[in-house]
Amino acid sequence: MNAPAAPIGPPMWLLAEVTYRCPLHCVFCYNPVDFARHEDELSTDDWLRVLHEGRELGAVQCGFSGGEPLLRDDLEVLIAEARRLGYYTNLITSGVGLTEARLDAFKAAGLDHIQLSFQDSSREINDFLTHTRTFELKQRVGEMIKARGWPMVMNVVIHRLNIEHIGRIIEMADALGAEYLELANAQYYSWALLNRDQLMPSREQLRRAEAVTDEWKARLAERMRILFVVPDYHEGKPKKCMNGWGNVFLTVTPDGTAQPCHTARMLPGLDFPNVQEHSLRHVWFESEGFNHYRGTGWMKEPCASCEDKEKDYGGCRCQAYLLAADPDAADPVCPKSPHHEHVAAALEQAETAAPSTKPLIFRDPKESRRLCGQD
Ligand code: SF4
Ligand code: SF4
Repeated sequence: MNAPAAPIGPPMWLLAEVTYRCPLHCVFCYNPVDFARHEDELSTDDWLRVLHEGRELGAVQCGFSGGEPLLRDDLEVLIAEARRLGYYTNLITSGVGLTEARLDAFKAAGLDHIQLSFQDSSREINDFLTHTRTFELKQRVGEMIKARGWPMVMNVVIHRLNIEHIGRIIEMADALGAEYLELANAQYYSWALLNRDQLMPSREQLRRAEAVTDEWKARLAERMRILFVVPDYHEGKPKKCMNGWGNVFLTVTPDGTAQPCHTARMLPGLDFPNVQEHSLRHVWFESEGFNHYRGTGWMKEPCASCEDKEKDYGGCRCQAYLLAADPDAADPVCPKSPHHEHVAAALEQAETAAPSTKPLIFRDPKESRRLCGQD
């Protein structure tokens, strides 16, 4: 195990991934491709204990996500307890299953913030990308959230299949009264990596989308904050993944496995503890999984002697593993990485791509079982 260089501070965010179940089938879903292997879910009592321990540890924000967290019928109880404990609470949802009655219950429980995801400005693309008929429903949910006085916070994952609609997406958000819109370019992990050839935009598409976004930013400056998150592949700059491994975020997955980020379980040779067997204090301060990539002591060249190593901590460990089969490598997004050719080839493919003939792979349990060899 590598010893972390600096004293370890407390986590700021507790991310409760309460279920991998989801009625949608997004082609860019960030859940692990083998999520169907991990179908067990913590009980309500387990989650309540996790919330207590997280707060004792010093976490101040608690995000409830999934899958679709609304599929847990104890969500109201968990939110109320998180609020009582003093967390700032955040629900990350597709909105599917959000009724007037449930929203009233969340309001009574003290929920601070809801982030609603949309896939596109058009029914056709929204419903195609999720393999569901949910476009109108999401619009209704947006109105219901707004009517209860929560700020309207929308998130749209941007990729080749919707990037040309970016102006209309912003218009739609404005019509729904969004105060905050995150246009998050797809990150190529999990299901998005499987579908990368079909999802990755060209540089020109990205440039146009950013220019359109800038026009709208200026036009709507008074009433909407728009964030355009540039993909790391195109930027050629490794991201400071999760703000540093085991630095800010503590994620607990549906079956209780605790990880520094929601995909870390894929990394070979690392042992991530389960909250049913260990306290969050042990998880955060003592476990091998949380300590292994803390700080910079684990790095090899070119990161070890790089002047930027404290800025980006060598980028993303999952990306290094997914693209270079080496979780200790410099993130291949970095031009200095000996594995940068993987990213360069994907970018080249996106420049020259004729419409891809590969079928999209939709996220669903059956597909997950097939992909991890269980079917
Ligand atoms: S990205 Fe889509 S399929 Fe994945 S959890 Fe979110 S709503 Fe469900
Ligand atoms: S070599 Fe490593 S530390 Fe330096 S910029 Fe690239 S990924 Fe970051």
